[in-house]
Amino acid sequence: MQKGKIGVSSDNLFPIIKKFLYSDHDIFLREIVSNAVDATQKLKTLASRGDTSVSVENAKVKISLDKENKTITVSDSGIGMTAEEIEKYINQIAFSGANEFLEKYENDANAIIGHFGLGFYSSFMVSHKVEIITKSYQEGTKAVKWSCDGSPEYSIDEAEREGVGTDIIMYINEESEEFLEKARLSEILNKYCKFLPVPVVFGKKTEWKDGNEVETEEDNQINDIAPAWTKKPVDLKDEDYSGFYRQLYPMGEDPLFNIHLNVDYPFNLTGILYFPKLKNTIEIQKNKIQLYCNQVFVTDSVEGIVPEFLTLLHGVIDSPDIPLNVSRSYLQSDSNVKKISNHITKKVADRLHELFKESREDFEKKWDDLKIFIEYGMLTDEKFAERAMNFFLFKNSEGKYFTFEEYETLIKENQTNKENNLVYLYASNLDEQYSFVQTAKDKGYDVLVMDGVLTTPLLNKFEQKYTDKRFVRVDSDIVENLIQKEEEVEELSWDEKDELSPVFQAVCPDAGGINYLVDFKNMGESSQPIVITRNEFMRRMKDMGQLQGGGMNMYGDLPDSLNLVVNTGHPLVQKVLEDKDSTLGEELKSFKESLDAKNADREALEKLKEGKKEEEIPAAEKEQLEDLNKEIASIQQDKREKLQDYGKNNKLAKQLVDLALLANGMLKGEALDKFVRRSVDLIK
Ligand code: ADP
Repeated sequence: MQKGKIGVSSDNLFPIIKKFLYSDHDIFLREIVSNAVDATQKLKTLASRGDTSVSVENAKVKISLDKENKTITVSDSGIGMTAEEIEKYINQIAFSGANEFLEKYENDANAIIGHFGLGFYSSFMVSHKVEIITKSYQEGTKAVKWSCDGSPEYSIDEAEREGVGTDIIMYINEESEEFLEKARLSEILNKYCKFLPVPVVFGKKTEWKDGNEVETEEDNQINDIAPAWTKKPVDLKDEDYSGFYRQLYPMGEDPLFNIHLNVDYPFNLTGILYFPKLKNTIEIQKNKIQLYCNQVFVTDSVEGIVPEFLTLLHGVIDSPDIPLNVSRSYLQSDSNVKKISNHITKKVADRLHELFKESREDFEKKWDDLKIFIEYGMLTDEKFAERAMNFFLFKNSEGKYFTFEEYETLIKENQTNKENNLVYLYASNLDEQYSFVQTAKDKGYDVLVMDGVLTTPLLNKFEQKYTDKRFVRVDSDIVENLIQKEEEVEELSWDEKDELSPVFQAVCPDAGGINYLVDFKNMGESSQPIVITRNEFMRRMKDMGQLQGGGMNMYGDLPDSLNLVVNTGHPLVQKVLEDKDSTLGEELKSFKESLDAKNADREALEKLKEGKKEEEIPAAEKEQLEDLNKEIASIQQDKREKLQDYGKNNKLAKQLVDLALLANGMLKGEALDKFVRRSVDLIK
């Protein structure tokens, strides 16, 4: 028997392994099984070149569990190792700058294992002793047994082994006994080894017999050695893609379509990505893209490798160029990884464009499900946004789809405003904004449906990019103002507005934290008497504030502010106006007279001040002016109160405001009840 010391410059490797590698203990199995697979494939390569006569035909990797002796054994019939090779590959561990590195990555087992090539040694995370029994394929070599109990000392001995290959026997330590459970082991194998390229067998298949689960003769192979992504696209049919999707996500709903990635220059990458059907919101998804390295599962957190907006996709990416054991921070700075990310973006855009060109009809059908990816992509990735202009679609209120270009042609003639901007009208909800949509259509405008969660930021982006385009929601103003084609003409005098405004203000609801701003406009007899609109800019600021959340944006907390546009051309509004004049005529006249008088006094005083410096004005004059201003304000206040008192009892004004609220689904509870009672009274 030969004894020796493992060649580590640091005093003792094992305490380090145990101390630092506490998080991802389950990867020991991935490491040991992939070594076994590698060894098998190496032998296969030699055999195919005629460099060995050892049979490789039924080569499998076998995992066995011995609960009594508390061991897990991984056996392969690969190339095996000679005593010299054990010395070289197992005993001499390249170890430089170890302590520094360990400190830096102390919480990242993957990084440590990867850096040191410690794949095999990860077995010591769960074992108090590990044995290797191995026989090399090279003729004339003997089987050897290597054994190590977790101290840097190992022993090497001659041994017996039937065929060529290697057994790794792990004596599981007390803290790791969970791994001696069959179910736990199956779970890990299923996670990491499901698509390894050499058959991996764990026990026998079971079946139900007389109410008992019994083992059959058949090996329980846990992996598919040739998953769809390793095949050529020409060899795969639609069913193969959907079949593979179900293999990955047994519970998943059928995806919309897939993208088969196959790159060999300037890096190697294969994979299949699926566009899933997502529900309306960006849900935290359970099914994620899985990253493999030569068919070994690495991770399903692919941030940094796949562009952010594509993390919503499903599927598999396999690349030997993405280092198997690496930390997040390392991945993000790796230039290869950047290239991969860019490439995936390009591929996805190309594929979408292709689908659009191949079958526009089919693409349109899928658009509502697709748009969230595309909009997200356009918002977060400039290159993608450029490419997406080829297949981004607008959908209008009639359910027709247009490309950006087509839509521009459609509305150019009729929806260009006086500043030469193209105005895109849209609704976010066809039911809620029904009357606005209808009015706009009656005017010959086309109305888009923009109802995505990302609509507001997307429209902001469009407007930044195309400064001659405006997006305006149909309820943001009365139809006459949505697309202003010529200068507005003032219709009511300032005085008239000043008198009518408090009347309507008095009947606006004061609950619900909404500010109402009363405005007037002659919209003609056939339009509604009152229209409630919502300012586009304020609404979008609020939307953005809510999207960003958490007090980041002061607009998010602003009260809602609505415009109550009173149609002065409507007979019922005329009636309110006339009734106000006949009821308050005398009083309004006397208010006007005293205001006129005071204003004249003030004007005279202001005239006196002209050309004088502040210190030249006598104190008495200043005082007089101040008093006058106070008196004017007080008369105005009285006048406003008078009008408001009058308004409060004006059933017609109240009814008109309630009708407008009702049309917007904003009349509820007590207000609605009162409205109904008042209506009955009015028609009695
Ligand atoms: P890595 O696999 O990254 O090289 P490991 O520590 O996992 O690092 O393994 C070190 C070396 O030991 C391997 O490169 C291989 O030469 C040898 N080895 C490990 N397991 C086996 C095995 N099952 N059969 C043959 N050789 C093996």
